Amino acid sequence: MPFWAFQVWIKAYNMLSAIIAITLLAAFFGMVLGISAIIFKVKSNPIVDEIDKLLPQTQCTQCTYAGCRPYAEAIAKGEAPINLCPPGGEQTIHALADLLDVEVLPAPEDEGPKEPTVAVIIEEQCIGCTLCIQACPVDAIVGAAKQMHTVIESECTGCDLCLAPCPVDCIIMKPLKDTPITWKWPLPQNHANHPLLVSKTATVLDKSGAIG
Ligand code: SF4
Ligand code: SF4
Ligand code: SF4
Repeated sequence: MPFWAFQVWIKAYNMLSAIIAITLLAAFFGMVLGISAIIFKVKSNPIVDEIDKLLPQTQCTQCTYAGCRPYAEAIAKGEAPINLCPPGGEQTIHALADLLDVEVLPAPEDEGPKEPTVAVIIEEQCIGCTLCIQACPVDAIVGAAKQMHTVIESECTGCDLCLAPCPVDCIIMKPLKDTPITWKWPLPQNHANHPLLVSKTATVLDKSGAIG
């Protein structure tokens, strides 16, 4: 065998050995990881999952817990009542009461429906400190260190948790603009006294003979 052919053979042999060694190592570590994943798998509590599904997932922390999941865990452990979620309102309380077969509790202080809002960053004032990104529970803010930040409107839940950390107060909350999908007819003011409703009620009462 000529010397050059011997050199080629040695190189090919070394390369093949390295490929086989790496493949065997990858297979070994893959197997170890797979077995570890099965042995050390953390089983999630199905009732916590069910409760969590009923919560609004705005992660606003108004329930005094660090987010919807921690609140769900506290409910499942019996450490928290089912009426601590203002964004969920009565609908969530009823759903939780049905799920857990417990008594319906009164909704937290009724402040009336909150106007949906969205955070807006005044971009020319942003110093790129990234504090708002760290505060946002739903990753609705994009930006990088020392670069301008902005809010992804469709992801923002309006929780306003990003306002306080901003050192230059360049985040404001704005009412969410209606879209053809979200727009609804406004309820008439004093609708109980609305002439149409009053006349309809009078007609019904007349026909039933309840009055007059
Ligand atoms: S108040 Fe409701 S929506 Fe907000 S974090 Fe708590 S459970 Fe989630
Ligand atoms: S951008 Fe601000 S208001 Fe919007 S979800 Fe994030 S923290 Fe809440
Ligand atoms: S906290 Fe304020 S200044 Fe800092 S990155 Fe966010 S918007 Fe910009």
